[in-house]
Formats: sequence, structure tokens, C-alpha cells
Amino acid sequence: MKKIIELKNITKAFDGEPVLQNVNLDIYDNEFITLLGPSGCGKTTMLRLIGGFETPDEGDVLFLGKKINDVPPYKRNVNTVFQKYALFPHLNVFENVAFPLREKKVPKGEIEAKVHEMLSLVALSGFENRAVTRLSGGQQQRVAIARALVARPQVLLLDEPLGALDLKLRKDMQVELKKIQKQTGITFVFVTHDQEEALSMSDTVVVMSEGKIHQIGTPIDIYNEPQNAFVADFIGESNILDGTMLEDYKVSFSGQTFPCLDKDFGRNVPVDVVVRPEDVDIVPLEQGQLTGVVTSVTFMGVHYEIIVDVGGFKWMVQTTDFVDVDEHIGIVLEPDAIHIMKKSEYSNRY
Ligand code: ATP
Repeated sequence: MKKIIELKNITKAFDGEPVLQNVNLDIYDNEFITLLGPSGCGKTTMLRLIGGFETPDEGDVLFLGKKINDVPPYKRNVNTVFQKYALFPHLNVFENVAFPLREKKVPKGEIEAKVHEMLSLVALSGFENRAVTRLSGGQQQRVAIARALVARPQVLLLDEPLGALDLKLRKDMQVELKKIQKQTGITFVFVTHDQEEALSMSDTVVVMSEGKIHQIGTPIDIYNEPQNAFVADFIGESNILDGTMLEDYKVSFSGQTFPCLDKDFGRNVPVDVVVRPEDVDIVPLEQGQLTGVVTSVTFMGVHYEIIVDVGGFKWMVQTTDFVDVDEHIGIVLEPDAIHIMKKSEYSNRY
């Protein structure tokens, strides 16, 4: 796979406050890559560095292997779609999409063909003469995407482009965007703080917090093999406990010893133990490895989400079995339900 963009040891501060700290990232051709993290973690700043709207304090931005730190945005083969998509209100749909081509003095016939191709791509054929002010939010966003793609950038940067849409429209647009990316083969760098959105759309997810990258991987890797307590907590929901790795394949927590699938942590080493709510098995009291009392039951449609208090630790459990509040029950954790992680600076925050 061809690398399009490389961020090498990027550091960036605003007013003395570090916003990105030693960030390294490779972005590949035809990739849908998502920068995911809580508000303020530096996602937009990273996108702006790629777009050329910011310059790094330290480190380099490379485009196809060439340093572009000081290349202005309009000279980069990169375009951006923002959450507030800023269409030209006095122009119709056709003219909005045609705008970048007219700026470049592309011949008329070619403009016609390219605009029609883009409108068909975003499923807006037939809307050419419509005033953009008379479109729904989702339609306006699709016009913005068509306009950003019409000049065929090699990379499209999307900064929370679906943030303003309602949930239903947002879901539809997620599917559309993914389709458009695959059809055009253009690299999409997408920013969101919504983990579900990131997991459902991306080839690669970059999990960030506080100006650092915690993990880069496929959605499945990130979900199944989180590298630390922050990622485990941010991606999906997790039970995170203090534990001790006694020896290979043996961990203790909550006063019990459990077989697990992890090794090479050493003996008697403090670790974080992560268990997904859907991996906790509910059993009758006397069969439990751990026992506790149900403190809440919430019906979620396909399953119940229940909280079980085990000696003061509140286990989050997803189950299709019905249990009652105040019921005393047992919990069983199979070895593959238990994920062991090295302690990190994030360990004690959860
Ligand atoms: P959000 O999801 O809220 O947009 P983000 O992860 O995209 O957040 P950034 O917008 O990159 O985060 O901001 C990271 C930090 O840098 C924030 O604390 C923000 O206030 C600060 N920051 C960003 N741009 C500037 C600027 N031009 N001047 C000063 N501080 C800035």
C-alpha cells in the first residue's frame, strides 16, 4: 500500500499548552481513516496540519514522501469538508459544485460532465437548479462533499461533517460517505468523537486523547484488543478492575483467581483487567465465580443492561436473561472474556 501522508514526530502547542505531543501517523492511499477521541484531544489540529492551516512546532508533514510543512493549503492536493459546510447561498446546487472548477478555468463542457458525475455520486442528480437554501441538512452536506470532491483531491479531510445532522440522517450519511470513499478511491481522513461512527465507517481508527495517539488499528482490533485502559473505556463499555498477574495465564482480582489467556507480564505484577459487559455470564448464585446483588436493570431492546454490585465494584453486564433488582446472582468469566493490560497513566481514572 502506498503512503500518502506521513506525520513524523509532530509537536504542536498553543499559548504554551501542548496540543499534540510526538504524534506519528502514516495514512495510506484509498484508506478511510478516522481520528477518534474526546473533545479537545487535538483531532482538529491534526487535520489542520494535514490541510496546511497550521504548521508543526516540531516534526514534519510529508505528502508522497516530500516535506510539505510550509506548503500553503491551496497548493496541497487536499480538500476539506467542515461541519458548517458553508455553501454559497446565492448559487444553486450546480453552481456550488461547479465553483472550484470555474476558479480553475476548466472548460465549460468538462465542468458540465464533472458536476453531473459528482451529483450522481452523492445521489443528487436532478437537483441541479435547486437553491441550496431549499435543501435539507443532509442534502446540503452532500452538496458540500460533491464540491470538495469535484476537483479530485488525493485526500479529503472531513471534520465532524455529520455532527449537525439528526440521528437517522447521520446513519444514512455514514453509509453514503463510506460508499463514496470506496467508489472514488480518494483517501478520507475523518474526525469524530463518536466511537460507533468511527467503528462502523473506517478501515483504520486512530484513538487519541490529550494530544497523544493511543492506538492505531482496524475497528475490530481496536475493539477486541484495546492497548490500554483509556482505549478500552472509550471504545464501547468496559469493566476495568485492578488486578495482579500471578503468573502466565493466571490473574487475580476481586479476591479471586481466574484463568486467562495472557502471558509474559511476569509474576505478581499489577495490571488492569478489562471485561466487556457482553462477555460477563450470569449464573445462579451458587455457580458463580463471583457473587453479587443486582442494583439496576435497564431494557435496551435486544438485551438488558444490568448493574451487579460485587463487594462494592459495580459490574456492567449485558444479558438476554431477565433478572430482578435485589436478586443475588453469580458471575462467571470465561478465560477469553478477561483482557489484561499493562498499567498506564490512565489506569486509575476509571
Ligand atoms: P473537538 O472535538 O472539540 O473539536 P478536537 O479534538 O478537535 O476537539 P482541537 O480542536 O484540535 O481538539 O483542540 C485541541 C486543543 O487546542 C483545545 O484545548 C483547543 O482549545 C486548543 N486550540 C485549538 N486551536 C487553537 C488555537 N488556534 N489557538 C489556541 N488554542 C487552540
